[in-house]
Amino acid sequence: MAKKKSTAKKTDKMVYYFGKTKTDGKGDMKMLLGGKGANLAEMTSIGLPVPAGFTITTECCAAYYKNKRKFPTGLLADCEKAVKLLEKETGKKFGSNSNPLLLSVRSGAAVSMPGMMNTILNLGLNDEAVVGMANMSGNERFAYDSYRRLINMYGDVVLEVPHHAFEAEFDKIKASEGVHEDNDVSIQGLIKLCAEYKKVVKKHAGIDFPQDPMEQLALAIEAVFASWMIDKAVIYRRIEGIIGLAGTAVNVQTMVFGNMGDDCGTGVAFTRNPATGQNKFYGEFLINAQGEDVVAGIRTPQPVAEMPKWKAPNNKTVGKEAHATLMKIKTTLEKHYKDVQDIEFTIEQGKLYMLQTRNGKRTGAAAVKIACDMVKEKLISEKEAVKRIPAGDLTQLLLPSFDPAAKKSAKPLTIGLPASPGAAFGKPAFSAEEAVDRTHAGEQVILVRKETSPEDVDGMHNAAGILTSTGGMTSHAAVVARGWGKCCVAGAGEVHINEKGKKFTVNGKTFGVNDVISIDGSTGEVFSGEIASVEPKLSGDFATVMKWADKYRKLDVRTNADSPADAKRARQFGAQGIGLCRTEHMFFEGDRITAMREMILAENVADREAALKKLLPYQRKDFVGIFTAMKNLPVTVRLLDPPLHEFLPHDAKSQNELAKILGVKPATVKSRVSQLHEMNPMLGHRGCRLSITYPEILVMQVTAIVEATIVCKKKKVNAQPEIMIPLVGTKQELAQLRALAEETIENVKKAKKYTGKLDITIGTMIEIPRAALTADEVAEEADFFSFGTNDLTQLTFGYSRDDVNGFLPDYINNEILERDPFQSLDTTGVGQLVEMAVAKGRKAKKGLKCGICGEHGGDPASVFFCHEVGLNYVSCSPFRVPIARLAAAQAALS
Ligand code: ADP
Ligand code: MG
Ligand code: MG
Repeated sequence: MAKKKSTAKKTDKMVYYFGKTKTDGKGDMKMLLGGKGANLAEMTSIGLPVPAGFTITTECCAAYYKNKRKFPTGLLADCEKAVKLLEKETGKKFGSNSNPLLLSVRSGAAVSMPGMMNTILNLGLNDEAVVGMANMSGNERFAYDSYRRLINMYGDVVLEVPHHAFEAEFDKIKASEGVHEDNDVSIQGLIKLCAEYKKVVKKHAGIDFPQDPMEQLALAIEAVFASWMIDKAVIYRRIEGIIGLAGTAVNVQTMVFGNMGDDCGTGVAFTRNPATGQNKFYGEFLINAQGEDVVAGIRTPQPVAEMPKWKAPNNKTVGKEAHATLMKIKTTLEKHYKDVQDIEFTIEQGKLYMLQTRNGKRTGAAAVKIACDMVKEKLISEKEAVKRIPAGDLTQLLLPSFDPAAKKSAKPLTIGLPASPGAAFGKPAFSAEEAVDRTHAGEQVILVRKETSPEDVDGMHNAAGILTSTGGMTSHAAVVARGWGKCCVAGAGEVHINEKGKKFTVNGKTFGVNDVISIDGSTGEVFSGEIASVEPKLSGDFATVMKWADKYRKLDVRTNADSPADAKRARQFGAQGIGLCRTEHMFFEGDRITAMREMILAENVADREAALKKLLPYQRKDFVGIFTAMKNLPVTVRLLDPPLHEFLPHDAKSQNELAKILGVKPATVKSRVSQLHEMNPMLGHRGCRLSITYPEILVMQVTAIVEATIVCKKKKVNAQPEIMIPLVGTKQELAQLRALAEETIENVKKAKKYTGKLDITIGTMIEIPRAALTADEVAEEADFFSFGTNDLTQLTFGYSRDDVNGFLPDYINNEILERDPFQSLDTTGVGQLVEMAVAKGRKAKKGLKCGICGEHGGDPASVFFCHEVGLNYVSCSPFRVPIARLAAAQAALS
């Protein structure tokens, strides 16, 4: 995603030539010449066979719009001069009727942009020149094939004639000759086709097809400029966040012909395999074809590997030579660009020409392999390799994914949001309970819900994947699933769920509990049936890249984990501790939830303490497990945070059941639930506020932490707990709770007769703006700060995390926000609070340890920011740990 500012200096030069006579441009002039233009110049300079041409700058496009859609003065004159030079180099003449110079007109911005204008080929032909070209080449078929392509493309993109109008004429002629392929139409048929195409132009555009080549050129250039602002292009730039570009460049280039016969052709290729990274030339070509025939699917192209077998009637070795040239070019290009190239080429009567090159897009797996291979080949340095791999793309390497071959033959039922990557299949389960039961019974299920809530976490954890019909990328299901690295497709609106009937329908098909579905969390696709998947490998090149990253990074990387299993997995991914261990999830399992509810419903301290006593052993056991999994590494345990009503049953049936278990009247349960109801629970009685009102909750949790630490110490397991008090807004809150925690630690030590050192630190989350503003005061009571940037973002913007998706898309579409601030830290606003709190905190307490534990901890851009403001660590979900390690190294190297 490019976010480049235009760095091109204002320049008066409007046309940059590339050819034998001279080459004005360079590869690093992308802002001015566009990616395509800059690379055509660069390839020419390094001696590759590029047809000569010239590039009109992006500044001219900007000027065109400034001038109310008029060309800047002198542009056409400069173009004419450049054309004269082309004529000199080629010995042909633009507009000649006997030996015409033909041109291609191509768009090309600094960032590759599908959706802009299609290329015009064979420009310069007219009714007379086509005859001349036929005579000159002795190839009438080629001349008319070129002309029909010009009229078609020109009509299409310059005159806006509907494409199907041309298509229909071609079909008629093919039908009358009884042929199917374009290439099988007779010469007479092609001549007739040109005449019919001109009629189509006249009918739809109201003008004759322009016969004056200079007029053709001027109108084509203008069409390229105009395509910069067509809806498709504007929308693409908005979606990709491309800003700061002047406009598109226009490339005008001498034609080379892939359509002159069976010793000609055209193709596209990658210098290495873009899916796997394998160092093997990867491409396709079509014999006797032009332009985008290869990608348009007109005929089935052949793999470039087959090229040596290609024998043309007049030249037995044409394929072998072209292939050898391509292999040489691969080496030259990779040596020069030091990266994989995505190229376009044409072969004219056996001679190969390069028409485009750019750095090839690749999968995460390919990026890793290519970077490692190129270090081995001494093309790039270790540091360069680390900098080059897009950190976010590592996700693809860590999760199972559908076998591309298996996916190819499957058509998705519907496409939702790619909420949490990975691949999963299973039979639908329609409630969390059902998901748990059926999983325990040995089935593999996909939890299919309208949306999920905290009560569903057990079911979500047990399911192989999650599919929801509503909710966005930050919905509960999405956030929780991402945290676990569990595959999730959210907001699949075409999925209509009948929870009671245990079935769902999607686009007319119905699925019940026995029908297998597959979901792809990386694309949002939902499929019928089981699709084969492939498991990730964490060894080899991946491990090498991680080793390099660790060498250069300054930030530590911890993980957010609430269970020994997650902690272990995160350690395998390289986590250096737990930055956030949420305790609330621990209360949902099995009979704990009953004890929890009993505690919440208690009318007095004694009853509450009795219920807490039942919870204590569970908590202690959980902590022993987590501390053991993370031995020798710090574990930040956050005390209870959510509002209590989240733990209570809200439907009458469950309330009645609970009343029965507790031996109270259903009405009592109901009234206590409604008592606890809050208008704005996330701004309500939660976090440290709970411990102020119910200190016994804190006492129980701290007791469990200390007892677990002692258990571990006795087993020679070095536990390093850090107690974190959430949602602090004032120094006094923290002071009181810290005192209580310290007192509890001492009490437990005494009760357990433990005399050794425990080194349990007590710190706070900075997630309320007031705490950030008064960080110097808060720091006096804190051993560490951990920035809870989810809540800090919510409270700084005043956006409710849970409801923000009602309007956030509009904010992004209208460019009020560049991106979702819950996914990537808002460095200007929220970031300022972080930066200030770090500075103030450390002023009050030298060397205060600071970290971040929000969703942002695994977002590469946010990790960069954390490095810059000097945090000690970032903490993120286990699957994001490698991403954060790499991003931290990139931040340190940038
Ligand atoms: P895109 O940006 O969509 O890739 P291009 O400007 O690269 O469009 O043009 C698409 C195709 O048109 C090229 O891959 C090539 O096959 C053909 N083409 C462009 N310029 C020339 C030329 N000078 N001679 C022959 N073919 C050309
Ligand atoms: Mg195109
Ligand atoms: Mg191209």
